[in-house]
Amino acid sequence: RGALVWFRRDLRAFDHAALHHALLADTPVYCAFIFDSPILAGLPRDDRRVAFIHASLAELADELEALGGHLLVRHGDARAAIPALAAELGVAAVYANEDYDPAAIARDEAVLAALESDGRALKLFKDHVIFARSEVLSQAGKPLGVFTPYKKAWMKRLEAQPDALAPWHIEPHAAAFAAGKSRLLALQDIGFDGADLADVGVTPGMAGGSALFDTFQPQLPDYDNARDFPARDGTSHLSLHLRFGTVSIRHLVRTALQLSARGQAGDGGATWLSELVWRDFYQMILFHNPHVVGTSFKPVYDKVDWETGPAADELFAAWCEGRTGYPLVDAAMAQLNTTGFMHNRLRMVTASFLCKDLGIDWRRGEAYFALKLNDYELASNNGGWQWAASSGCDAQPFFRIFNPVTQSERFDRDGEFIRKFLPRLADLSAREIHAPWLHGGVAGYPPPVVDHAEARQRTLARFEVVKARG
Ligand code: FAD
Repeated sequence: RGALVWFRRDLRAFDHAALHHALLADTPVYCAFIFDSPILAGLPRDDRRVAFIHASLAELADELEALGGHLLVRHGDARAAIPALAAELGVAAVYANEDYDPAAIARDEAVLAALESDGRALKLFKDHVIFARSEVLSQAGKPLGVFTPYKKAWMKRLEAQPDALAPWHIEPHAAAFAAGKSRLLALQDIGFDGADLADVGVTPGMAGGSALFDTFQPQLPDYDNARDFPARDGTSHLSLHLRFGTVSIRHLVRTALQLSARGQAGDGGATWLSELVWRDFYQMILFHNPHVVGTSFKPVYDKVDWETGPAADELFAAWCEGRTGYPLVDAAMAQLNTTGFMHNRLRMVTASFLCKDLGIDWRRGEAYFALKLNDYELASNNGGWQWAASSGCDAQPFFRIFNPVTQSERFDRDGEFIRKFLPRLADLSAREIHAPWLHGGVAGYPPPVVDHAEARQRTLARFEVVKARG
């Protein structure tokens, strides 16, 4: 008898599908989180994501205790640790929320097999997205590969099934929860140190997520205007909280729709909702096309011959370290390297620059972002990179190539963002700052590592193979 709720990317004690169902199904209910050693392996000791999870767990434990429960935190390979904990507690079933990453699906299959061989069950629930897997399909009943028809079908499905947004209530259930006290681990116990979360403006946990959303709501009506300008910082910054489930996607969508219905969301509300639908879209793409991990969504793009060898390695290092000589690209990489966040417009600009100006394989950029982004999410990161490389679903056509100077002039017109992250360029005028080499250059700042016009021609030639075969 009894249930074990296994928390993973859902670190909250409200609107939680697995916890809700466990509390209704069986008692006593235990709660646990496993620091999964295969995931932690290879991360730097000051990894912000690990520190974020760690701090969020302390808050989660407090919240669960307030509800009458407690939280057990362990460290090990979850494939063994969860079945072992289930056996130790003697529960009949483990409850968790679905995770659509191929590696997580394989892990859950291993956990299921181990639990079943021991006479126990694994029950999984949709929680991370509004619509999962095959809930939104084409009229012919097929998974979609293009966003606009997907979004239309998503909206139609929501209209038909508004309870997809209903919260999974958690009532205080002292009688249903197992008695006991939380047992947490120190970061040092799992091989990590603290990270500079406060310095980079990140408040972990449910409190951090809800404070951000409160701050963002008054800005929502202007989101469609403000979202493209990095210096205006007009986006929600909720991606990290969505990644670890310290906010509820249902709550965000519900609130956006309620504000729209009251006429308080303007055009920004609809645009922001679209972004949340993009998130569902990429989760669905990953689920139906696990080959996107490591290969192109459109296989013909794997024929593209990317630059390799020492010269390409040096260009890649210049990109990573923000010394390409293109100020907007370098400022964006400085934002990523110092804060772990990068504005969406700049993710598109830097990704395009790596693939289309430097001719470097998108997978190298994807891996660098995966290491550095606080909000790293396999589905969205892979989708974004394949979009920029033109190899993905609904991607940028390969012949449309961002010009890093024009992008800079359009989206950071006065150079405010560049000045913030590249203080060396602070004294340049708005006219000079986008292409300093045209105005005599700046001591200590590199000249451009490639000429954009020449790079563009090389890229068009490189992608010919796609035209020939596609
Ligand atoms: P807002 O503009 O406030 O948007 C709200 C939410 O919508 C975001 O938090 C996010 O969950 C979702 N969203 C917004 N844009 C997208 C998008 N294009 N695709 C999918 N979901 C979106 N997003 C990640 O969460 N993790 C990643 O690892 C990631 N890597 C990316 C890599 C590249 C090359 C590109 C082009 C985009 C990537 N994105 C990623 C998408 C997007 O850049 C971020 O979600 C966004 O910048 C996060 O800031 P925000 O929370 O302020 O977004």
